[in-house]
Amino acid sequence: MSQTRTLYRLQKLDLELESRRARVREVTAALEDNRACQEARAQVTALEDRLRPQETRAADLNLEIKTVAEQTKQLNARLYGGTVNNPKELEDIQHKIAERQRRHAALEDALLETMIAVEELQEALHTARAHLQAVEEQWAAAQTTLKAELERLKSEVRRLKADRQQLEQTISSEYLALYQNLRARKNGYAIAVLEGDSCSICGVGQTTATVQQVRQGLELITCESCGRILIAL
Ligand SMILES: [Zn+2]
Repeated sequence: MSQTRTLYRLQKLDLELESRRARVREVTAALEDNRACQEARAQVTALEDRLRPQETRAADLNLEIKTVAEQTKQLNARLYGGTVNNPKELEDIQHKIAERQRRHAALEDALLETMIAVEELQEALHTARAHLQAVEEQWAAAQTTLKAELERLKSEVRRLKADRQQLEQTISSEYLALYQNLRARKNGYAIAVLEGDSCSICGVGQTTATVQQVRQGLELITCESCGRILIAL
């Protein structure tokens, strides 16, 4: 095989290696990116933090309602029990009962409002927890797939590196140096295929003499415009 054809094979290997390595970087980044889970978990925590004080408030209101109801019951017992006969005192008890009843109504209103808030938050929390579970399941499945892909990519990179090493040994150091230099400057594409009489990368037509020399493949010819090594397939 001519040196330029060997270099062309080397370029193919290098491009494959580069694409595998780029994918390794992507997969590694994806494996570390669990933002969706974190956001879903944060949403659950935020709702739990809002729900807790409302539940406490509902419990407190229930307790106070019971206390007020008990007080009203006792006041009614005194009012109708026959032990109090003093009109001033009876009137005073009636006032207290009326006051307890107003308090009871206000507490019931507050409790109703709180229970509505609790129910809304519980519903939102239920949805948020289901979402978190779905996101975590997706994440776990994606992890499995990505880890398998990463293993495959790593083994492909190892194989390509070994192939490259082997191929490199068959190329003269002069050609290799030129290739590496061009590769660095030409975004990985040191070698261009001759298509008709034009360079396939920059598209510039080559002279008849150049085209002939490239076809003969005896020496290393570069594109007259972009400077890449030309190869005829
Ligand atoms: Zn060119």
